[in-house]
Amino acid sequence: VRQILISLALACLSCESVPSEPPADLLLRGGRIYTLSAAQEWAEAVAIRGDKIAAVGGSAELDRIVGPKTAVIDLGGKLVLPGFIDSHIHFLEGALQIHHAKLDEARSLQEMLDLVKAYADRNLGLAWIQGMGWNYTYVEGGRLPTRQDLDAVLSDRPAYLQAYDGHTAWVNSKALEVAAVTRHSKPQGYGEVVKDPLTGDLTGVFKEQGAMELVRRAIPQPSRQDKLAALQRALGEALAHGLTSIQIAHGSPTFDPSPKYAPDELDLYEELERRGELPLRVYFAMSVSRQTKAEELEQFARLKARLPGPRLKAGAVKIVMDGVIESHTAGMLEPYADDPSTSGNPDYSQAEIDRLIADLDRRGFHIFTHAIGDRSVRMVLDAYQRAAANNPPLPRRHRIEHIEVVSEEDVPRFASLGVIASMQPYHASPDITGVWARNLGKKRLARAFAWKSLRQAGARLVHGSDWPVVTLDPLVGLHAAVTREDLDGKPAGGWIPEQRLTLAEAVRGYTADAAYASFEEDLKGTLEVGKQADLVVLSDDLFQILARRIPEAEVLMTLVGGRAAYTSPRFGELGGAKK
Ligand SMILES: [Zn+2]
Repeated sequence: VRQILISLALACLSCESVPSEPPADLLLRGGRIYTLSAAQEWAEAVAIRGDKIAAVGGSAELDRIVGPKTAVIDLGGKLVLPGFIDSHIHFLEGALQIHHAKLDEARSLQEMLDLVKAYADRNLGLAWIQGMGWNYTYVEGGRLPTRQDLDAVLSDRPAYLQAYDGHTAWVNSKALEVAAVTRHSKPQGYGEVVKDPLTGDLTGVFKEQGAMELVRRAIPQPSRQDKLAALQRALGEALAHGLTSIQIAHGSPTFDPSPKYAPDELDLYEELERRGELPLRVYFAMSVSRQTKAEELEQFARLKARLPGPRLKAGAVKIVMDGVIESHTAGMLEPYADDPSTSGNPDYSQAEIDRLIADLDRRGFHIFTHAIGDRSVRMVLDAYQRAAANNPPLPRRHRIEHIEVVSEEDVPRFASLGVIASMQPYHASPDITGVWARNLGKKRLARAFAWKSLRQAGARLVHGSDWPVVTLDPLVGLHAAVTREDLDGKPAGGWIPEQRLTLAEAVRGYTADAAYASFEEDLKGTLEVGKQADLVVLSDDLFQILARRIPEAEVLMTLVGGRAAYTSPRFGELGGAKK
């Protein structure tokens, strides 16, 4: 008898406890659900209870947890992915620039000037004309634009125009006058005030934040209310693109030269969260530079303790190691091909970056370091390696942001040191055959945006947009990752096609691996039982359509923590039906 009782008990432990399982709040069924789970890569249905995933499986199988109050959506074969995570974004900056003149629509200097003039005429009430997105390749002859170019279309109001990468500003003479910048003005930190080599006259171009700040500080600041309103608009836009998490790589100060700027931005998200109006998840990296004081780092540590997530999480810091290849400020191992007199200009010596990284590592911060040139990348890898060797053991997941060129010897070090490669696929697109490639030269091109080499060497790659540098649309990023073509399909077959990723690899960089890159892989990034129900329903199955059609797919619904944070007006029409 005793034996029989034990057998019954064991049988009950292994049997499915159907009657005791509470019904789901929401069931999505009849879809193509890409879970990114090793146990079950594809499923047809996902059930959600509260803010979490309750079950994943076949449609018929999951009908068992439909109760009288369960909302059921028939997906009609649509693709479901874990919600997209943008691993590198400048969100407030992007939000505040939504209404600035968009110069990326121009293809020549004259077209840029026409756009500035039209924008200024449309916005007569603006004291400053601000624009973004101009491209170094638009100016014929490879020169930089000048204030005189701009004065020809706008001389009575100051104009401040930021290059697409955010690393260079181009202003008119009125802006120099209003900001009281003269040929004697010195950059406040890393940067260069560009002067005519013959006359020493200001050209109106300012490279990197320390120089750009000289003009930017004269631009009237948006109010807190303006910033909150801008954020809410931009958060809505992010959800409409399927983003359920963003990782804010703050880096350089944008509107306020004080390093306190970053916590001020964090404070805006805190206010939205308190009001229950933060519709997606935010991981926040605070700017650190050599000017950052010890008491500010202590404040960052308190913010880290106070904001552990899962909606708003602090604890990362961002360092800027160098500039960009287009303006020769990225630190290279060999001189620039178009100007052998320079190999760039990292902001820190090896000893300085070693010291800064060791200090931040010891304090327990998660470190993001912007490093674009192969020399800067190596210096940061060295600094991470030394910090790990000399400081107490920690779960380290330090990251390098951008990595536009990497030397062959350094490729395997990402995996061996556990350093995360944070790379923005669409950056390999807007300027790939222009100034960037010219400055780099042919010899190094095979290691340009070397996504595949890094992945094959075992590195964990995470993706993002760097918005407002380029669009925050992750489908555009996925397209660039798998094709290395621009949106017009150029160059056909892809630019350095060996470095293309598969769609599965690229999706992982926007989901599961991106969650790992903020220490949140137990919470999100795959569609598995117990994880947050963050997911996106797409109009087309990206795995079935031609790669060039990926950017045309539409987000039909975005769920964050089980709640529909965005529903497309076309959701019903495309096969979704609510019961
Ligand atoms: Zn950035």
